[in-house]
Amino acid sequence: MNLVLLGAPGAGKGTQAEVISNRLSIPIISTGAILREAVAAGTPLGVQAKTCMDAGELVPDELIISIIKQRLTAEDCSHGFILDGVPRNVSQADALKEMGVAVDAVIDIDVPDADIIARLSGRRVCGKCSAPYHLINKPPVVEGVCDVCGAPLVARADDSEATVSERLRVYHKNTEPLIDYYQKQGKLFVVDGSQSIQETTRLVFAVIEALS
Ligand code: AMP
Repeated sequence: MNLVLLGAPGAGKGTQAEVISNRLSIPIISTGAILREAVAAGTPLGVQAKTCMDAGELVPDELIISIIKQRLTAEDCSHGFILDGVPRNVSQADALKEMGVAVDAVIDIDVPDADIIARLSGRRVCGKCSAPYHLINKPPVVEGVCDVCGAPLVARADDSEATVSERLRVYHKNTEPLIDYYQKQGKLFVVDGSQSIQETTRLVFAVIEALS
């Protein structure tokens, strides 16, 4: 199954993507995580992407499309995948279509802006494997340490208050039109992401099971 997770920054896409990936044994393709790794490694891609990411702006479509093209050729994508954070605008969605990427379903995790702002201040991420955490909603077993790989947890640079409001503005302007785009194709399923992580997972799997 090829899934797209839509939703504002902090809606819980990464957290739900992990659960889906574990249960369905399909990989997560998170352009944000790929870009953060490139920034940390100081690759040419990372250098190009960093300024946009720090400002809360979208990285140019050409970079994203080439990342996706390359990643989807990997063997582990042959039985399906979860796109997390991509497409981020209509031109990226069109580019996926042109590449021949069949999207089976788009799950939009809907969370009001006020909740998003509160959530992002407590968000943490593993500096090594990108596993997502939250100080209140999803704390690690040992404070400050990743449950998966033991590396230290860090706050994302782009979760600062000023950058978050810019990212929300960019989301509403560029990404939200995808709701209508996929609705018209009959592929959109909206779930309420404002409750607990477990409740959102239940709603997400109600959609996935209805599709299987
Ligand atoms: P995310 O982890 O998905 O919130 O992404 C973090 C940042 O990476 C975003 O604020 C953008 O600067 C950049 N980014 C991630 N995915 C994309 C994408 N599909 N298109 C453009 N920029 C992206």
